Amino acid sequence: MTPNKSLHLYNSLSGKKEPFVPIHEGRVGMYVCGPTLYSEPHMGNMRTFINFDFIYRCLLHFGYQVKYVRNITDAGHITNSAGQEVDSIGSAARLEQVQPLEIVYKYNVKFQELQRLYNLLPPNIEPTATAHIQEQIEVIEQILENGFAYVENGSVYFDVKAYLQHFPYGELSGRKVEELEHETRALNAQEEKRFFADFALWKKAQPDDMQVWRSPWGNGNPGWHIECTAMSTKYLGKQFDIHGGGMDLKFPHHEDEIAQNCGSFGCNPARYWLHANMLNVNGQKMSKSFGNYFLPKEIVEGSSPLFSKPYAASVVRFFMLQAHYRSTLDITEEALNASEKGFERLMEGLSLLDKVSPSKESSFSVEDWKQSAESALLDDFNAPILIANLFEAVKQIHALNEGKAQLNETDLSLFKATLAHLTFEVLGIEPIENQGNDRLAGVMEVVMALRQKAREQKDWASSDMIRDGLAKAGIQIKDGKEGTTWG
Ligand code: AMP
Ligand code: ZN
Repeated sequence: MTPNKSLHLYNSLSGKKEPFVPIHEGRVGMYVCGPTLYSEPHMGNMRTFINFDFIYRCLLHFGYQVKYVRNITDAGHITNSAGQEVDSIGSAARLEQVQPLEIVYKYNVKFQELQRLYNLLPPNIEPTATAHIQEQIEVIEQILENGFAYVENGSVYFDVKAYLQHFPYGELSGRKVEELEHETRALNAQEEKRFFADFALWKKAQPDDMQVWRSPWGNGNPGWHIECTAMSTKYLGKQFDIHGGGMDLKFPHHEDEIAQNCGSFGCNPARYWLHANMLNVNGQKMSKSFGNYFLPKEIVEGSSPLFSKPYAASVVRFFMLQAHYRSTLDITEEALNASEKGFERLMEGLSLLDKVSPSKESSFSVEDWKQSAESALLDDFNAPILIANLFEAVKQIHALNEGKAQLNETDLSLFKATLAHLTFEVLGIEPIENQGNDRLAGVMEVVMALRQKAREQKDWASSDMIRDGLAKAGIQIKDGKEGTTWG
């Protein structure tokens, strides 16, 4: 399907909604900043990845051929939420007395599990910073050659003053260099830098650094921002369509990515910058450093002290997508309960639709409804309005079921196919019984067959034993007219 109406998206760079025109017709290059794997990603991180997964799914739905690149940060000094540069992977490795890549590998295994749990489509490439040191060195050399960086005592710094002669700095985040001075001075030792706003492209190795590489400037390690410039250029080109990440990355990370790209290749890396807003707890951004975070697994296992019961990953994903990606979202038990009810209503509606038979005439237009859902997606990927359209459909399903509305055969099959596509493929939620790992599903199939056999033989003791045993393991089975389900 080729897009017939035009997609508009909010570009953080212009602060406006703009029509989306890809560089190459029908194709989209999208780069999203991935996690720093020094610990398990928290639920806030997951919100950003879920939002970009939804955006990716929308682009696929519009018929674009998408190349989606999301990196893994496994090297470098990261700027923490207090604005200080910290070697988080090195610190975790020292603490656990293992090598840095053991830390990254351990948390990457967890991150990959979380992606499956929350039904995230895998990006086309997940490059790591440590595998692209050479590319980072090459970009730094180019910036030096262009006169926008200088070497000082084995480190390389981006020269903001030289850069300002040719390009503006701070346009994405709306920060003015003069205003930055006040914030930056109090931070790390600034003495090597010629100007307070300069930032490190390459850092000279410190005696306790665990990750060190050779470079033309001596042993050291890359600055954080340069990895994204090197990897986005390698896989998507000097300029590509969409660059995404959480709102908190606008400054300094994305601002410095823009400076590096302009400073090496003369252009902004992306035509459209998309920023996903924060998941909050009691109005405050969820963050490791604030200590107000919980893990995506804790919420499905029911082990987070914040919640009195477990919530299925599909319910949590549904809850996340009930807010637009540019809005902040506060996670509370009350809101999750409301989403759980909504989710169940939607799933019940979908299974009820399977039982509706076609009529001769149609009493409402499926095409109009479909267009309305489509418009929500085209308007800056508006998931909450898409969901409102799905609930509108559920109302119609009940009317169809009660004989108060009718659809002919063609419209009924279009209605079913569109609803399933929007719910499962675009929104990316799954029926609860489909969740969990495949092995569990396999085991459950055997257990359910055994129970069914016991019931057929009127062996109620065995069938109850299976049901009660499963309940103890946290799996509820329900016997209904249509058979038995579990979740
Ligand atoms: P990090 O591993 O800290 O680089 O974060 C990975 C991604 O999660 C980045 O895009 C961050 O902007 C995003 N992020 C961090 N905290 C939150 C939060 N509370 N809500 C939503 N996204 C977040
Ligand atoms: Zn990045």
